[in-house]
Amino acid sequence: MTTVAAYAAPAPKAPLECTTIERRAVREFDVLIDIKFAGICHTDLHLVREGWGEAIFPLVPGHEIAGVVSEVGPGVTKYQVGDRVGVGCIVDSYRECDNCKAGQEQHCVRGAVQTYNGIGRDGEPTYGGYATHVVVDENFVVRIPDGLPLDAAAPMLCAGITTYAPLKQWGAGPGKKVAVVGLGGLGHVGVKIAHALGAEVAVLSQSLRKKDDGLKLGADHYYATSDPKTFEEVAGSFDLIVSTASAPLDLSAYLSLLKTGGALVNVGVPEEPITFHPFALIGGNKILAGSMIGGIPKTQELLDFCAEHASARRSSGSPPPRSTRRTSGCWRAMCGTGS
Ligand code: ZN
Repeated sequence: MTTVAAYAAPAPKAPLECTTIERRAVREFDVLIDIKFAGICHTDLHLVREGWGEAIFPLVPGHEIAGVVSEVGPGVTKYQVGDRVGVGCIVDSYRECDNCKAGQEQHCVRGAVQTYNGIGRDGEPTYGGYATHVVVDENFVVRIPDGLPLDAAAPMLCAGITTYAPLKQWGAGPGKKVAVVGLGGLGHVGVKIAHALGAEVAVLSQSLRKKDDGLKLGADHYYATSDPKTFEEVAGSFDLIVSTASAPLDLSAYLSLLKTGGALVNVGVPEEPITFHPFALIGGNKILAGSMIGGIPKTQELLDFCAEHASARRSSGSPPPRSTRRTSGCWRAMCGTGS
């Protein structure tokens, strides 16, 4: 066991405080990661507040981890000391079911092990990336390509994969009209990815307050959902809508914006149930779907995709990608444990 500095919420709704936690000793297939950046995800807030139900305390949030390998177990073959790596929302699964074998570890039938607020297969609670180090099995670590800055890579590990997976699954690309509901952490990443995939992208946001940001991120259109005219103007026009909203949505109204056979995919998780009338689905053979993060192979595919687009942007003279979400690599300094 190694004692490392971390930020933890000691109890539900309590502010995070600087403390120490124990990380397990590096086992045969483990890598020790020196954490450089950890994204701040809305899930962190939901769990500290127990908005989705009871959580495990003390709670160390953080499942958008980017860092550098500083030690490897004797059986590790995929990574070496010095490699740039990431860890997302899961750190293990049982690896026996069809889902695990298909690279959909997040849907492990016995339950994937969450990066924090989870119980590992060894029965110990898991602690997330608001810490100086983490120990993870190499099969749940992804490689961050050289072309991708670590701070920009971190948010891809939850927000990125959460939006990339449904955009890919439902065919976002050239000739497709895609709407992203909400321009928060998930939404802004979703807009960038949908744009990079070649789709025509619209943002559906409560107001026009973030319109300039949305257009800069790659949106072609921006609509205010507080304006009832929006729902007339874009009725029946989208192939795909990805909803990132964390507040309850009038699903019937949003389903009316789909083309025949179009899909509305929900990736946001409001704390209250949402209802809709089945006629909103039946007319036009609409699809209402969900999507939960992505497996390890899909997450690696996303990082490689981002690196390709980052280098394409650089060669076209655009500035290098930067995360616009808050990340911090300063846990050591903030915790007063030196650097
Ligand atoms: Zn997250």
